[in-house]
Amino acid sequence: MDVTLTEVERDLLELGRGYAEREVAAIAPQAWHAERCPVELLRGLGELGLLGPLVPEKWGGIGSTTVGFVALLEALATVDPSVAAAWQAHSTIGSLPLLLFGSDEQRERWLRPLAEGTQLGAFGLTEPSAGSDVRSLRTRAERVSGGWLLTGQKAFISNAGTEMSFGVTVLARTGADADGKPRFGSFIVERGAPGYTQGPKLRGIGWKGLDTRDLYFDNVFVPDRQVVGEPGGGLGQFLSALEVGRISVAALSLGTAAGALRLALAYAKQREQFGARISSFQAIQFKLADMATEIEAARWLIYYAAALRDAGRPFKKEAAMAKLKASQVATFTVSEAVQIFGGAGYMLESDIARFYCDAKILEIGEGTNEIQRLVIARELGC
Ligand SMILES: Cc1cc2nc3c(=O)[nH]c(=O)nc-3n(C[C@H](O)[C@H](O)[C@H](O)COP(=O)(O)OP(=O)(O)OC[C@H]3O[C@@H](n4cnc5c(N)ncnc54)[C@H](O)[C@@H]3O)c2cc1C
Repeated sequence: MDVTLTEVERDLLELGRGYAEREVAAIAPQAWHAERCPVELLRGLGELGLLGPLVPEKWGGIGSTTVGFVALLEALATVDPSVAAAWQAHSTIGSLPLLLFGSDEQRERWLRPLAEGTQLGAFGLTEPSAGSDVRSLRTRAERVSGGWLLTGQKAFISNAGTEMSFGVTVLARTGADADGKPRFGSFIVERGAPGYTQGPKLRGIGWKGLDTRDLYFDNVFVPDRQVVGEPGGGLGQFLSALEVGRISVAALSLGTAAGALRLALAYAKQREQFGARISSFQAIQFKLADMATEIEAARWLIYYAAALRDAGRPFKKEAAMAKLKASQVATFTVSEAVQIFGGAGYMLESDIARFYCDAKILEIGEGTNEIQRLVIARELGC
């Protein structure tokens, strides 16, 4: 498996890392405490050409490999998981359904601005009564002359409510097969469409810089040109975007863990108790050694899944394993890191507390870890 970066990807990584260390580090923590999505940072990433990492140049992106994307995401998340979460949701589930299944006309009109960095993309699958069980979703699309009427509600949708958001790609029930099985379609709903409204930004334990809201559709007219792919093929499209999303959340977990280790190591080297740096105590060293080892194990699972995708080989099982392992490593690492900080780490004023709060969602979002285990078990033949 080739997990090396091309020269162009190395340059992009340096560009992204530099921006993260300078701009993101300066703004993101305050935005997190203010529970504000720092759109200016996403615009900044767009100005650097980094909002279309997986989109080919033909459609305004940079056409990175999945491995290159993972490296960039790890670097961003090491500095701030919320901003990295917004960036990765935009880059994968927000953009990929349009890239992979949209017509050229749709790509030109809706994907290009996302990839060129002037708009943010969002993906609406989850509903109040349909989370892990996506097939039970109730949002319905009714056929009318020239298009469809969309009615329903989506829950916890990221990136749909910022001033940079273009709208959202939504999955809705379009009817049933002859044998009664439900059919689903993907619909592009633009901001400002009559009948499309949003709830307030939701308040999470972490990822406070990410804009996440409930969305409401009351007889929203969606013209035929805004149906992505076949009106019955939407579920398969969303699920395949989610496979890449799993690698992406795994890389986000990796960056979160790596950022926590970096903070804990620096603190352990300067904090003194009993007349010595706490990094000289074997109990602390063992924690740091375990954190670093777990991070490295997760890193190779993630890069392996990414390299499989780049090689055009199946990667469903490996993506699920990477997401499962890396998210566990993230929650383990942030907890150990807070332990190393002691009371100072418990206080929300500290950077490590922000990482601690940002980690839990990684075991829930884009398929809970229980669902990842089900995917892995199914791939094993259960
Ligand atoms: C911050 C945030 C951002 C999000 N962004 C988006 C977004 O942009 N777009 C979007 O569509 N969604 C988004 N989501 C939704 C997210 O993907 C769902 O929360 C997640 O898939 C879980 O669904 P649920 O919350 O309904 O939990 P449920 O499905 O109700 O699960 C509850 C519990 O039951 C377990 N469980 C369920 N079924 C099984 C089973 N068969 N076997 C064993 N255990 C099971 C789950 O693992 C979990 O522990 C976001 C959520 C959050 C919190």
